[in-house]
Amino acid sequence: MGRIIADLHVHSGYSRATSKDMTVRTMAEWARRKGISLLGTGDFTHPAHLEDLTRDLRPQGNGLYSVEGIPEVSFMLTAEVSSIYSFGGRVRKVHNLIYAPDLGVVRKINMVLGGMGNIVSDGRPILGLSAKDLIKIVLDISNDCLFVPAHVWTPWFSVFGSKSGFDSLEECFQEYAKEVYAIETGLSSDPAMNWRISGLDRLTLLSNSDAHSPSKLGREANVFDCSMDYYEIMDVIKTKDKSRFLCTIEFFPEEGKYHFDGHRECGISFTPDDTEKHKGICPVCLRGLTVGVMNRVSELADRAEGYIPTDAIGVKHAVPLQEIIASVFGAGVNTKKVRNEYDRITAVYSEFEALLDISAGQLQEVCDERVARGVLRVRAGALEIIPGYDGVFGKVSMR
Ligand SMILES: [Zn+2]
Ligand SMILES: [Zn+2]
Repeated sequence: MGRIIADLHVHSGYSRATSKDMTVRTMAEWARRKGISLLGTGDFTHPAHLEDLTRDLRPQGNGLYSVEGIPEVSFMLTAEVSSIYSFGGRVRKVHNLIYAPDLGVVRKINMVLGGMGNIVSDGRPILGLSAKDLIKIVLDISNDCLFVPAHVWTPWFSVFGSKSGFDSLEECFQEYAKEVYAIETGLSSDPAMNWRISGLDRLTLLSNSDAHSPSKLGREANVFDCSMDYYEIMDVIKTKDKSRFLCTIEFFPEEGKYHFDGHRECGISFTPDDTEKHKGICPVCLRGLTVGVMNRVSELADRAEGYIPTDAIGVKHAVPLQEIIASVFGAGVNTKKVRNEYDRITAVYSEFEALLDISAGQLQEVCDERVARGVLRVRAGALEIIPGYDGVFGKVSMR
């Protein structure tokens, strides 16, 4: 037993626009310094990545794996599949995560999916298979797999997305909807937004990074209090057990790149009210606006803002430490100055210890004083954020 910080959606170097550093060894090194104890492997559907996983991972005998020399970090076999298909006269584009208990199950899944489409060209394969057929295939191979609709509110590629999604899990998965136990809320929505929809009450809300480079690992995560065991973690998720699922760690949803509505090229960022006033049309180019997550949630919500279900899992909002440092220094996230301060702090505490756990006094001992103040402001939720829209990340200001 013990606290497990888990990030169960990442991508490998075999996915498009992903760092070649996303190998399990480099990911494990970063996870250790961040204080993440359980990571998804990402991309198990990709044959070359699966070869790397088979070579580099050692089974722990509990449905999880680790790399030699870094026993503090466990891995769960995870993948994401993009389903693009026609349903009800419209094109649907839905991303789903698959969690699997062992490499044997993974090979069977890949064998079937490989016969139905191209799983080689991208670590996150695009298949013409419906989301419903995909969940059926996965659960027929093993009931120990978990199937999780990914970043469910993003406009372009998600089950509830404004552009090509559905209005309910039932519409998307039909008789298989009851086999969906959890959804990933994504960076642009937080649990409070999802609590406004009574149809989601029975589901467990997961938060993951969807990282494409090691420094982004854990920017959202799940905190469990249970043994490091695939089957127990699946049980915690399926039963939505508050005593063993302590909280999710969340972006402030305004930081996500699809929180508001708008048009990136035209520099238009709109609240849902602005969008209504303009009838969904961009005042600059007169084309349709990209409707973001806040708007789409309001559209499907049957409860007012602020409703908290009695069995809700806890929530903590955080800002990645490198972003806090960059903001208070007024420097870019990838500058040497920021990296040096990050290294100095994480040589003593893990990133999550610094962000969540250690006292103000301990922070001041190990951080630049402005960084310490920044961390405390984030903990208090006292910061300004310019909301993200149409693919542009929100901007946190702490100066
Ligand atoms: Zn995705
Ligand atoms: Zn426009």
